[in-house]
Amino acid sequence: MAISKRIVLHFPKRLVERPIVSRLVKDYNLDFNILKASVTPEEEGLLVLELSGKQGDYDKGIRYLTKTGVRIQSLSQDVIRNEERCTHCGACITICPTGAFELEPLTRRVNFYDERCLACGLCIKACPPRAMELHF
Ligand code: SF4
Ligand code: SF4
Repeated sequence: MAISKRIVLHFPKRLVERPIVSRLVKDYNLDFNILKASVTPEEEGLLVLELSGKQGDYDKGIRYLTKTGVRIQSLSQDVIRNEERCTHCGACITICPTGAFELEPLTRRVNFYDERCLACGLCIKACPPRAMELHF
């Protein structure tokens, strides 16, 4: 059975330069479409992929990624902002790889555009008052 899933891959610094994703095509017969790629301030690589192929190949490919040290996150979770907690400090703006936060110049408020959010979770740790929450 063919499947297609959107996932986020977190590459630790030591793996950022390695051709890991290309092996998914060569060794596991999977197709991928890169939806977003970035390097975080801690130099972790972040890749949002649509990965498709046969279920068995997909499972093997995921096992290969996990074994090499890549952290995988599915996009079936949702990140929301607890508006009562947000102090509009701006700490999340540069952290977010998709530009989901923007500073409103006149009011100095930080707007959150949840339609841009890929649920990578990076802003959760970065937010001092813990206003960003992960929901499953
Ligand atoms: S880091 Fe947290 S408190 Fe600061 S603007 Fe972003 S969501 Fe609001
Ligand atoms: S989880 Fe946070 S950092 Fe990640 S894309 Fe969504 S808003 Fe941006």
